Amino acid sequence: MNVPREGGCSCGEVRYRLTSDPLFTHCCHCLNCQRQTGSAFVINLLIEADRVELLAGVPRPVDVPRDDGSRQRIFRCPTCQVAVFSQYTHPGVRFVRGGTLDRPSGVTPDVHIFTRSKLSWITLPDSVPAFEAYYDRKALWPAASLERFDAIPASADSDA
Ligand SMILES: [Zn+2]
Ligand SMILES: [Zn+2]
Repeated sequence: MNVPREGGCSCGEVRYRLTSDPLFTHCCHCLNCQRQTGSAFVINLLIEADRVELLAGVPRPVDVPRDDGSRQRIFRCPTCQVAVFSQYTHPGVRFVRGGTLDRPSGVTPDVHIFTRSKLSWITLPDSVPAFEAYYDRKALWPAASLERFDAIPASADSDA
């Protein structure tokens, strides 16, 4: 770990710092992510909620419907509404949107997921694992990240 990664929304009200490297970084090509971002895919840095340190502002949680009937909680700047991170099933894990980092080029995906809906003009590198849908965390994550994941309390209240 070198310099902590920082990022924020467009208007500057929300600023955050990641106090360590992420557990793992997804590039997700699913239809939900395409719709939510209005783009081809999303880059998500998975990291413990308590390692996302808020430097300014309080992102507002917005529950967004997903195609499978579930809901995904997206945290947005209350003023400019840019989404800075989201939460899926595990309340102790944040999915930080890579495009909101001050230096998006500082992260590269560890895996490409839901490539079944990947736009055909995007060519993925052979060097990065890619899956039609989701993948087996235990098979792919480094041991240190699995250890960190197991240490997250299942009931972590991360809404603050
Ligand atoms: Zn803002
Ligand atoms: Zn997705």
